[in-house]
Parts: sequence; C-alpha cells; structure tokens
Amino acid sequence: MYDSPKRIRDISMLQTFRGTHDHLPDVAVRYDYIIKVAQHWAGLYGYNLVSTPIFEYADVFSRTLGDTSDIVTKEMFVFEDRHGDKLVLRPEGTAGLMRCLLSNGLMHQLPQKYFYAGPMFRYERPQKGRTRQFHQIGVEFMGEASPLSDGEAITLAWDVLGALGLKNKVALHINSLGDTESRQAYRGLLVEYFSDFKSELSPDSQERLLKNPLRILDSKDPKDQALVAKAPSLEGSLNNLSKDFFARVLESLDLLKIPYSINPRLVRGLDYYCHTAFEFVTDTLGAQSAVLAGGRYDRLALMMGHKEPIPSIGWAAGIERLELMLDQPVLGARPLSLIPIGEAAERKVLGLAHDLRLSNISVVMAPSGNLKSRMKYANKVNAQAVLILGEDELQKGTAVLKELDNGNQQEIPLSQIKDALKRLS
Ligand code: ATP
Ligand code: MG
Repeated sequence: MYDSPKRIRDISMLQTFRGTHDHLPDVAVRYDYIIKVAQHWAGLYGYNLVSTPIFEYADVFSRTLGDTSDIVTKEMFVFEDRHGDKLVLRPEGTAGLMRCLLSNGLMHQLPQKYFYAGPMFRYERPQKGRTRQFHQIGVEFMGEASPLSDGEAITLAWDVLGALGLKNKVALHINSLGDTESRQAYRGLLVEYFSDFKSELSPDSQERLLKNPLRILDSKDPKDQALVAKAPSLEGSLNNLSKDFFARVLESLDLLKIPYSINPRLVRGLDYYCHTAFEFVTDTLGAQSAVLAGGRYDRLALMMGHKEPIPSIGWAAGIERLELMLDQPVLGARPLSLIPIGEAAERKVLGLAHDLRLSNISVVMAPSGNLKSRMKYANKVNAQAVLILGEDELQKGTAVLKELDNGNQQEIPLSQIKDALKRLS
C-alpha cells in the first residue's frame, strides 16, 4: 500500500529541488521586511497591491517576451496539465499583469498602478543570488505615456533601495531603446555590422541576427561581447521624438538628484521594451550584478492582441539579491513569554494569553519543562520579558515580570500587566 523506504529515498523526498530553498524564520522575516518596505513606498506613490496566478498559459510569456529571449529559449518551466494545456510557471511579473489588466477589462480605467510581490521561476544554473524559484517585488504603471512616469517609477525604485539602506551599494544604469522607428533603423545598422562577422558569433547570436539582432548586445558570450564592443551605438539611431523623451526622463532624475550613468549597451533582453531601459547594479554580489531592473513597454498590450498600445513603465527587483545586500538585522516582534507554574497557573494561562493577544500583545507560552529550560526557550524566541505565574503569587493575584535584556524583575498585580508591558517598550 505504501512506498517502501528505499523508494522514498529514490525520489529524494527529503530534499528541495535544485535551485529552490526553504525560507526558515530568520530569512523569512527579512524577506517579509523587504516586501513591507517596498509596499509601503509603493503605497506612497499610489500603487495598489495585486496578485496574479503563479502559473499561466505558456502563450502569455512565450508570445510576448520574444522567442530569442533567454527566458523563453531556455529558462521557462513549461508543463502540460492533464488536458494537454500548455502552461508555464511564471518567469516574471509584467506579462501576467498585462494579461490581468486586459482580461479584467481594466484598460477602460487607465491609468492603473500595481505593486506585486511573489515567487517567479526560471530554469537557470543556481549560484549565489540566482535560484530557480526566486522572489520579486515589482511595480507596473500602466496607461501613462509621459516621461514623467518613467522618472517617477525610477524615483520609487531609488526610494525603496534607500529605505533598505542600499543606496551606497547600487549604481543606476539607464539607456533609451527609442521608439519603433528608431529601433527599426538601428536594427538595420546592426544587421549590416554583424553580418560581416557572422561566422565569429556564437550559435545563439547567429540565430538572434536573423530574428532579433538587438538581443546580440545582451549576449553574455565573451566572443560576442568583443564584437558588441565595436558595434554601432543605439544612440545614433534615435529619432528626435525618442531623444526628447529620453532627455525628459533624465531631467527628472537630475531634478531629484538621483545619480545615474548612461549605458549605451543596456538593451534589456525582452521584446516588449521601448524607450527607457534601466538597471540598478551592484558589485557586492559577485557574478550577479543586477538588483532591480525595468523599462517602458508600450507595445506589450498590442502583442497580447489589444487593438492599441497601452503605454506603460515598470520594474522588478529580486528579493534574494536585496536580502543578501541588507546590512541591518531584521528582528521579528518581541513577544512576552508566559511561564505558568503549577496547575492553578496552567488553568489561568490560556485565558490570560488570549486576553493579552486581544490587546495586540504578542505572547508565547512555555507551559512545560523546568524553569531553566523554559527561560532558555524565552531567550530563543527573543522574548522581551517573561511573566512567571507561580502558585503563591497567583493567590495574591500577582505575577513576576522579568525583563530579559537587563534582568530587572518586579511583582505586579495581574490587572496591571498591560500597563507594565507598555512601560517596557
Ligand atoms: P540576470 O542578468 O541576473 O539574469 P535578468 O535580467 O534576467 O537578471 P530580470 O528579468 O530583469 O533579471 O529580473 C529582475 C530582477 O530579478 C533581477 O534584477 C534580479 O534581481 C532578479 N532575478 C532575476 N533572475 C533571478 C534568479 N534566477 N534568481 C534570483 N533573482 C533573480
Ligand atoms: Mg536572467
């Protein structure tokens, strides 16, 4: 009826899958902190929390990110369900959110500002700061064409990084991909340039040359990179409208004194981007330099079959990478630990704990073991204080409150516990 122990070992029941991790409380509290900080700041900018399914029809991503993008060619977790529907564990947030906007008819109520946080999945080689299930926070400002919205979205990113204490560890790189006309012109120049070196390009880039030459600029292959270094730069192909748009975005950053450098090789690997592309990079994470990245994606709605473009801008940041960079310790709420001694106290303790929790006080019970082990437990859960309910004190209607940081101890009437706790914090 049951699998034998040997079979259970065979299927690695006690291991997480390669590139996925449990988040034990000491890490989970840091993830939660990052999300809360980002959500708070996004709220100050008028972004509303949304969430979309973790898996979607594969088309949502494969038809929008580009069929030569790294994500679509090699990183998606694709599977068929029992009915043969082709599904994918979402590799990123933007395409799913545009799908959400369109399928809920929200394109009639633009603009919309969304904040999200959650897991993403990419089949990659795991390394420090690179996992197969990873987590992102992100924002999407949909239905706004003004370069002011690009400036605002980048400012929000800067504020989130600042609130996390990371401003000194990141640098903002920015570029303009231009509008469709500019990109077409640039594409022509690139094809001309790379065609001369076709046989020297990596096999991937030879294919990109046919399908999407811009993506060669994104290649991580050293041979490609040497050729890329001498390729014509995108800037020369920008038409006036695109130049003007980019200038307005940079002006916003200047006005707010947000430092940046223009990186003409920054193209971002996805098909739906245009105009602004940016990345906050760091040199503190070894091979993984991108922490937060985003751009404008006016054409994404068209690619999803909508009859007109929905101009939009957004970004996403990897929580794993932010967490690795975070210097400050993040501590959970410090509870009060209740230690009942004897049956009368045990009878009292549940009601007392419940009453305190109703008053918004975090309470952890330590109902069994000797006093020493219960004190040890109180320290382990980082309690601020313990309340010892002994037989003698209970008869008098009191208990002993002991602060763990300084050892101060006092006997207090049970009716005054809440006030006494308030005085501690
Ligand atoms: P990279 O160049 O490092 O592969 P990317 O360009 O693929 O990054 P995006 O698609 O722009 O990354 O995703 C935004 C952010 O999500 C990245 O800046 C990074 O912080 C994070 N991220 C992306 N892939 C992973 C991953 N496999 N593991 C952990 N974080 C990731
Ligand atoms: Mg990647």
